[in-house]
Order: sequence, then structure tokens, then C-alpha cells
Amino acid sequence: SLEVRGIDAAYGLLRVLHDVTLRLDHGRTVAIVGESGSGKSTLARVVTGLLPPLKGEIWLAGERLPGALAQRSKDQLRRIQLVYQMPDVALNPRQTIEEIIGRPLTFYFGHRGAERRRRVLRLLEEVELPAGFAGRYPAELSGGQKQRVCIARALAAEPEVMICDEVTSALDAQVADGVLRLLLRLQAETGLSYLFITHDLATVKAIADDIVVMYQGKIVQQGRKEEVLTPPHHPYTDLLLSSVP
Ligand code: ATP
Ligand code: MG
Repeated sequence: SLEVRGIDAAYGLLRVLHDVTLRLDHGRTVAIVGESGSGKSTLARVVTGLLPPLKGEIWLAGERLPGALAQRSKDQLRRIQLVYQMPDVALNPRQTIEEIIGRPLTFYFGHRGAERRRRVLRLLEEVELPAGFAGRYPAELSGGQKQRVCIARALAAEPEVMICDEVTSALDAQVADGVLRLLLRLQAETGLSYLFITHDLATVKAIADDIVVMYQGKIVQQGRKEEVLTPPHHPYTDLLLSSVP
């Protein structure tokens, strides 16, 4: 399980997270919801080591992780993978899909050549993309297909925790639904845990076990999905619920 304990974080003088504590168990999904600027992506950055916290601890499977990326071991880096909103920014336009998905296979596991290619094709199959995509470049794929490549690249590391930051936000509803179903299937098959950041209530309802509601850098409500969605709510949770058609 992933445990985040008492995290404070800031960008320079701007305090963005205040005493954030949450727990994500094996094979479960915690949805992080909250208005724009409430600190959701910052929390993702802290957990992945991109932004060392001012205070607090991050534990994974009973092991305390260093706050800074540079101090984490290769294995600690491998076990938490981040997939985020804009696959266009996340994918190197000059690398083929095979190179993109193959990179973590080489970096983390030392796979090369035919073995690496075999695993790339297996991962493409996992995310329901045709094998023929291996030789393509990101620009030759649709938004939903690119997001699947990002997911395949994260899966290549065989993570325990996948942080999904608005992974379906840039996609239209039907494509987003396909990506969501893919994530649910992968979880059922592998026991992967998701820290799932979204502002879409329908997505939360479909995927979450627990919900964490953030407001101005603080957790204002958290618990099982059913509890959080049942009144009385924090005013922000009310706002979220009332914004749904
Ligand atoms: P959204 O739903 O819009 O993605 P969010 O909840 O992910 O919002 P964050 O990106 O975590 O919010 O931002 C939290 C606060 O930190 C905001 O006030 C934002 O302006 C600020 N912030 C984010 N990134 C940086 C940065 N690199 N430098 C300085 N301030 C930042
Ligand atoms: Mg964000």
C-alpha cells in the first residue's frame, strides 16, 4: 500500500499542500477530486518525487521513500508510475511507439533486442492497440491511442501504483470511456492501485473505491465512495455533485 503522511509542499513561497494524509491499498482506487488549483497535480508530483515535500512522509509497501527523485532507487522509481493529461507533451515526437514503450523495459529490466520487441508487442496488445503501431510516431495516433501508449509505457515498468492525472480529460466521452474500461480491466488482472485524479463525477463513480476531496491544498473530506457521496458533504463536495447534469 501507498501511504502519504502529513505532507506540506510549496512552490517557492507559495504553500500548496497542507498536511495531506491518505492511504491507497493494493488493488484499490482512490479518486482525488477538487477544483482547479486545489493541489491535486502537486500531490501527484510529490508522490512521484518530482517535488520534494517540505514536511511529511511517503511510504510504499512498508518502505519509506526519499522525498527527492534523485535519491530514490531505480526500483523505488519503477514502482510508482505517472500518467497524465496531455499525451502530446508526454510522448517524444521523435521516437517510435516501440522506442517509447521499450525505454522503461531497458531502463528497469535491461531487456533489449528481440526480447524487448516481444514485450513491446505484448504491451500494445494489453492496451488494445494493433502491433502495427510499433513503428509509428505519436503524431500518427489519435488522442485516445496516444493515451493508451502512455499507459503501456507506465505498465512496462510493472508498477504497484499508477497515478493517473486527468488521463481522460482531454478525450471525448466515448474515447474516455474506453480508456477507463481499459484501466479497470488492467487493475482486475494485475492488482494495480490507482491514485486517480479527476474532476469528473461520472468517472469517480465508475472507478473509485475511496474519494479524497481537496480544497485549497487541504483534504476536506475523505472516505469510502458511498460515504463521501452521501450527505452531509463539505461545501466543495456539494458543488461537485450539483455541477453534474
Ligand atoms: P487543475 O485541476 O487545474 O489541474 P490542480 O488541483 O492540479 O488543478 P495544481 O496544479 O496542483 O492544482 O496547483 C496548485 C497550486 O499551485 C495552484 O495555485 C497553482 O497555480 C500552483 N502551481 C502549480 N504548479 C506550479 C509551479 N510549477 N510553480 C508555481 N506554482 C505552481
Ligand atoms: Mg492538475
